Amino acid sequence: MIIMQPTVIHTTKTPPQPEGLYAELMSHAAGLPNDELFAQLIASQTAGIGALPPGLGLNEEVFAALLARHFPNMQLVIRRTTSDSADRELEHEDVLALILEHRADLDVSEIWMAEIVTTACMASDHLWQDLGLWTRKYLTELMTQNFPTLAAKNTQDMKWKKFLYKQLCEKEEIRVCRAPSCEVCADYQKCFGPEE
Ligand code: SF4
Repeated sequence: MIIMQPTVIHTTKTPPQPEGLYAELMSHAAGLPNDELFAQLIASQTAGIGALPPGLGLNEEVFAALLARHFPNMQLVIRRTTSDSADRELEHEDVLALILEHRADLDVSEIWMAEIVTTACMASDHLWQDLGLWTRKYLTELMTQNFPTLAAKNTQDMKWKKFLYKQLCEKEEIRVCRAPSCEVCADYQKCFGPEE
């Protein structure tokens, strides 16, 4: 049995890869969509990489269901030490609703993944780093696999967190951009520069 100690949440630019727990999780993997991504997220969070809280932002019951389904016979004890900030509850709801609108509808794990991505959106680094993914390409894979119609809209490979919030603004018909188009915008690098 692995005991997850109360987590010190921090981000790091060049995270080490917590391969031991990842390998152990994958040795129990059920062969379902998202097994590898969940293993990566859990292994990173347990190592204190990224910004997700214990349980990846899911409540204990849901996280237990995720573990039982994707990594049967793998036991992790989660001690939650954080709670959602009430002042960002509406933002959380909006981001989650946007992501869920685009779920592939192929597997229940898309719902859990949407909650996890939304929780990471509340943190302050690049989305793939806040999730504790090992490189940005895994986030592109996550979005394409779970929320394909949303991922397909990111035709210019915009930074993922910027992209999600821009979708929310467009949905509400709010224009926050100062330039008429991205090509002539002084903030281009902030939205499209390398996400490293
Ligand atoms: S590059 Fe400028 S115009 Fe394009 S999304 Fe970013 S802020 Fe808006």
